[in-house]
Amino acid sequence: MSDLTRLSAAALADALSSGETSSVEATQAHLDRIAAVEGAVHAFLHVSTDEALATAADVDARRAAGEQLHALAGVPIAVKDVVVTQGLPTTAGSKILEGWVPPYDATLVEKIKAAGLPILGKTNMDEFAMGSSTEHSAYGNTHNPWDLDRIPGGSGGGSAAAVAAYEAPLAIGTDTGGSIRQPAAVTGTVGVKPTYGGVSRYGLIALASSLDQAGPVTRTVLDSALLHELIGGHDPRDSTSLAEPLPALVAAARLGAAADLSGVRVGVITELQGEGYQPGVLARFEESLELLRGAGAEIVEVSCPRFTYALAAYYLILPAEASSNLAKFDGMRFGLRVIPDDNPTAERVMSATRGQGFGDEVKRRIILGTYALSAGYYDAYYGSAQKVRTLIQRDFAAAFEKADVLVSPTAPTTAFKLGEKLDDPLAMYLNDVATIPANLAGVPGLSLPSGLSDDGLPVGFQVLAPAKADDRLYRVGAALEALLENEWGGPLLGRAPELETR
Ligand code: GLN
Repeated sequence: MSDLTRLSAAALADALSSGETSSVEATQAHLDRIAAVEGAVHAFLHVSTDEALATAADVDARRAAGEQLHALAGVPIAVKDVVVTQGLPTTAGSKILEGWVPPYDATLVEKIKAAGLPILGKTNMDEFAMGSSTEHSAYGNTHNPWDLDRIPGGSGGGSAAAVAAYEAPLAIGTDTGGSIRQPAAVTGTVGVKPTYGGVSRYGLIALASSLDQAGPVTRTVLDSALLHELIGGHDPRDSTSLAEPLPALVAAARLGAAADLSGVRVGVITELQGEGYQPGVLARFEESLELLRGAGAEIVEVSCPRFTYALAAYYLILPAEASSNLAKFDGMRFGLRVIPDDNPTAERVMSATRGQGFGDEVKRRIILGTYALSAGYYDAYYGSAQKVRTLIQRDFAAAFEKADVLVSPTAPTTAFKLGEKLDDPLAMYLNDVATIPANLAGVPGLSLPSGLSDDGLPVGFQVLAPAKADDRLYRVGAALEALLENEWGGPLLGRAPELETR
């Protein structure tokens, strides 16, 4: 079969089960693609060629022996480098973890391995998932396959770029404030942040524990549903893991593809549009709303007035939790250890290690976080931010009385130029205005491509649902995807420029 890298995961899974191709062939095709385009894209920090091919060969042998396999068995996948993988280097994009090889697997990696998906490698990211452009990685930039001079979003720019550049049909991301959805938006891919607690956090290197959630990055809505069902579900090793089973996500995506949304109320969030949003982003958003209306959805306007404070609350809560989570990187336990020449006391080793091991953005947030948590300021900063968080949750609750799903543009702009916002942390933080409210409230969100802006770059459409109703994301997302692809005559990524291969 030609062009195995262009197939969706669902189509590749079908080709595997019908015997049209083998997992070794499919995995090799992706490894070849990685070899051909990585020089331009740099989506991966580590490519695990031998391990991936060994898994593929094992799956092929089990299939040949007639064993009953998982639907995605043999379909290769890339994993963000913030997720621990036994035997594969894991750095979280930081020098402080350079050379660390975890002794165990994250729960979601265990599930991926048990289902027989070959792991192609670990993807690039902003250091400890802090950023919106992947430029804060200690290991160099990832480039957006649509325009190599532009950012692929962040923090999970590596996963999104790998999927957009056909280096992997599936990838894992993590989303603390938008790091799955915003990279998906700016690369023309699909990304889902599940309900908080829907996918185990065991084995994710924590950024902000009350916000972090792992989820799928794919090229189609159905593929995200398939991957979400594989990695989700209760895990006794994560104390915030939800006890109840996931809703039927794949079924919802298949239902949605029929593009009949009669009876579905879609709420447009007043506060997440208008000023600060690129005209082309708003234009694509309006067109998508018209398509949803045409499919029978009832479009209502809903106001969430406290969303205006979401970014400010997030940049107190996240640094506070991050400063605590990152305290364990002290040069004693994992990765880098810097020993100063004179008087190397434990404290001076820790200080030298953290001084050299962490980048500027990480240091900035540790300083912010320890300040917000310090005795005299705790109530004024961290305490107030937690109260705002409750108000945002109430805004969501009120909005979901009026609508079954809420929608907005995923990000205010398309992919900006590499370097453009690097020296302006506040401008960088603004990329997540539309995605952060969902993390603060724990509700699920999906981003799918809704067309190209006037600059020829992809625009994302965000769908949000109440906690534990992730199935609604897939129903509405698959419907909009079907309607848009019908207009375009195929997937948006089909219009991306061909990458030069070598
Ligand atoms: N860009 C946001 C931040 O820098 C989101 C990060 C994330 O979701 N991991 O915090």
